[in-house]
Amino acid sequence: MKLRDRTAIVTGASTGIGWETARLLARAGANVVLASRNAEALDQVAQELQPYRGRSLAVPTDVTDGQAVEAMVSRAAEEFGSVDILVNNAGLGLYAYLAEGSMENVRRLFEVNVFGALNCIRAVTPYMKQQRRGQIINVSSVAGKIAAPYEGAYAATKFALTAISDAVRLELLDHGIKVITVYPGPIETPFRANALKEIEPPSASRIVRRIPPVRVAEAIVKAARDERPEVYVTWFDRVAVTLKGISPRFIDWGMRRFYMRRRGERG
Ligand code: NAD
Repeated sequence: MKLRDRTAIVTGASTGIGWETARLLARAGANVVLASRNAEALDQVAQELQPYRGRSLAVPTDVTDGQAVEAMVSRAAEEFGSVDILVNNAGLGLYAYLAEGSMENVRRLFEVNVFGALNCIRAVTPYMKQQRRGQIINVSSVAGKIAAPYEGAYAATKFALTAISDAVRLELLDHGIKVITVYPGPIETPFRANALKEIEPPSASRIVRRIPPVRVAEAIVKAARDERPEVYVTWFDRVAVTLKGISPRFIDWGMRRFYMRRRGERG
């Protein structure tokens, strides 16, 4: 899809991947609706995007609130005349033992990462159906294909988002709506700092390097242009997911060797 003068909604736009994506979309000439909770942070982002060609509109929104999401999408349509791209990016992490940790935190994670994303999909679909055009870009994770210890609930939410993407892609295809899933690996953002933590997050393995969020944003913008259904940001992520399909035992060995033992667990 060409991006100039299209309307793109980016959830979780105040920091990290969402911020970079909003910036690159505005630079490409899209009008960008910035949706996350913190009004002050969003106004700041809107200011930062002013020099770019695309216009930007800050609409403070908690994605877990279905009515607020509907109001945000309606505002986007009113302001810019269409709803062309949804980047479902808002997300939250949780570091915890899955079988022993707080259920309340697990539910909170599903509220944001799964039901929040679904609220946004359901809100944009009527507009996109009417236009017979649209893109829904879901920011899943390599964790949506490979579950790591201590991040099991997070992985469960991202597996859910992978399933939602796959099903909705087929359901909406005949309406001219493309659904794209992006699978980033570890990225340098405030994600860890913002995550819920019942245990100290495991230190990153030396074999997995964090990459800057702009690399994910570039992959998202390229995906919007090319409309490829599944996008990996690095070759390492793609190889890891392929290996998981071929030999899940090998991936389990790698998790124990490079992840669990670094926390002092026997693995
Ligand atoms: P981040 O913490 O910087 O960004 C998350 C954004 O989501 C923030 O702007 C936050 O305000 C927003 N958000 C959280 N709850 C919200 C809610 N209820 N309503 C509206 N907005 C809400 O982290 P990030 O790394 O930029 O994460 C963006 C996405 O990328 C997430 O979906 C995350 O799961 C995914 N991801 C991150 C990594 C990583 O290593 N950082 C890897 C793979 C996938």
